Amino acid sequence: MAGTYTFTIIKPGAVANEHIGPILNVINTHGFHISAMKLIRLRTAQARKFYEVHMGKSFYDALIEFMTSGPIVVIILEKENAVEDYRKLIGNTDPTKAEEGTIRKLFAQSVQKNAVHGSDSDENARIESDFFFSKSERFSIFDERDF
Ligand code: ATP
Ligand code: MG
Repeated sequence: MAGTYTFTIIKPGAVANEHIGPILNVINTHGFHISAMKLIRLRTAQARKFYEVHMGKSFYDALIEFMTSGPIVVIILEKENAVEDYRKLIGNTDPTKAEEGTIRKLFAQSVQKNAVHGSDSDENARIESDFFFSKSERFSIFDERDF
């Protein structure tokens, strides 16, 4: 069975451009429940760890620089089939290829400054949520608390 939560980040560019509220509005109007949320600034070591699968790629150093450049909003979202549905809602990594109405089409500035992150699997949703939130910071709308 598909998981019921995913993890997202509103990235520094979108925070700096005052897109927190508008992005949360899109998220809520598409049926996602916010079950954890905070505004933080990533330390370099945290950003390197979070994006370690991309270590060695051409864009890695610039990505770390960008993700640590200012505050971000980290959020756990709940919905049936959350990971897949949220990936659809955020759209393609490259905003020029993202469909109309997607968060990246609406708010991304570039491939790097693409407004939001979204977990790409249930396993990564769990790892990423645990990376930023303790149990006492999470408030599930579902009965079975599998986190
Ligand atoms: P995310 O993991 O942030 O949800 P994604 O899964 O759509 O995005 P990934 O391939 O995992 O895309 O890349 C992680 C992030 O690295 C992208 O969101 C983007 O900020 C940056 N990135 C990816 N490809 C490039 C690129 N070619 N040039 C610059 N930055 C890139
Ligand atoms: Mg990714």
